[in-house]
Amino acid sequence: MEWAGLHDVDLVLDGSMGEGGGQILRTALGLSAVTSRSFRMERIRAARKKPGLQAQHLTAVLAAAQICQARVEGASLGSQRLAFWPGPIRGGQYEFDVGTAGSTVLVLQTVLPGLGLAKEASELILRGGTHNPLAPPFDFLVEVFLPILRRMGLRVEAELEAHGFYPAGGGQMRVRIQPTNQLQPVELLHRGRVLEHEIYAVLSRLPRHIAEREVETARKHLGWEKKCVRIVEVDSAGPGNYIGIRIQCEQVTELFTAFGQIKVPAEKVGLEAARQAEHWLQAEVPVGPHLADQLLIYLGLAGGGAFRTLAPSLHTQTNLEVVRCFLERVLRIEQQTEHQWLVVAESRR
Ligand code: AMP
Repeated sequence: MEWAGLHDVDLVLDGSMGEGGGQILRTALGLSAVTSRSFRMERIRAARKKPGLQAQHLTAVLAAAQICQARVEGASLGSQRLAFWPGPIRGGQYEFDVGTAGSTVLVLQTVLPGLGLAKEASELILRGGTHNPLAPPFDFLVEVFLPILRRMGLRVEAELEAHGFYPAGGGQMRVRIQPTNQLQPVELLHRGRVLEHEIYAVLSRLPRHIAEREVETARKHLGWEKKCVRIVEVDSAGPGNYIGIRIQCEQVTELFTAFGQIKVPAEKVGLEAARQAEHWLQAEVPVGPHLADQLLIYLGLAGGGAFRTLAPSLHTQTNLEVVRCFLERVLRIEQQTEHQWLVVAESRR
């Protein structure tokens, strides 16, 4: 196969840097489409148990290529290198099917910067997993992430049409994107008063006591009242279960989730979510660790704005580097107190 030479692309990226996962690739694809800068990536997910492009990553590559009519080399399952030459972005109707239980939200994460800044509106149907561990669950997308994009001037509505859990998949969501030509800076420095909090567990094709034990463990750990818990039974192609702790504040809503797994006691799952919520509550920052890494692209593209968050995760540190490669150092991060960090975006001009 013909392979892109060093000088055929604008940027050369090492896929194994920092966190070394799929996010480096998704961020690069998203920003390549927006900036029209081509890139080559080596050692994609090199240190992962199953290295290279897995179904979700490959779907993301092909989806990104489709929305900007890109030329691509290395887009095959297991490939550890990829070259991507973007063309003009075109909004419209798209269907992206992961084909496995791989996360549809991560595929959306890849195409959203491009379609969000396209000239035309888009409507997408995405099939695969909608509630996956190690990815933003659909609930996080609609409760936490999209409301912030809306404040930045980008209107995205997402509808869950079927839950998809690992390993069966079979989930589906529909997403409508009303693009903007310039993202507005947002400031998330304080979260304000807590307006509402709830603990809920969702389960499909599993005994109800699993959900009851999860919410009860989390509720006791957080010392919250009994009326703030809820159990939701859904039906999906295969079994699945997760717990969500949603905290709505004046300035931001955060959601902490943990997934039920075979051989992991429900109490452990409940405690895992409760500890994440507790950590965020104690640090008194508005932006939790997952939201932090996901906002970087948008802050960078807006060229202004800031948010206060917890100590940066490896995902955040790595994503910051990728954003800087494409957008030329418009983001900086500084520690403010023991548990508070500030991320600031500055315009290039
Ligand atoms: P990667 O591990 O490189 O595939 O990236 C995973 C992405 O999913 C990152 O943007 C994480 O912030 C996000 N993510 C993982 N777990 C959660 C969670 N529980 N809630 C929200 N986002 C998550």
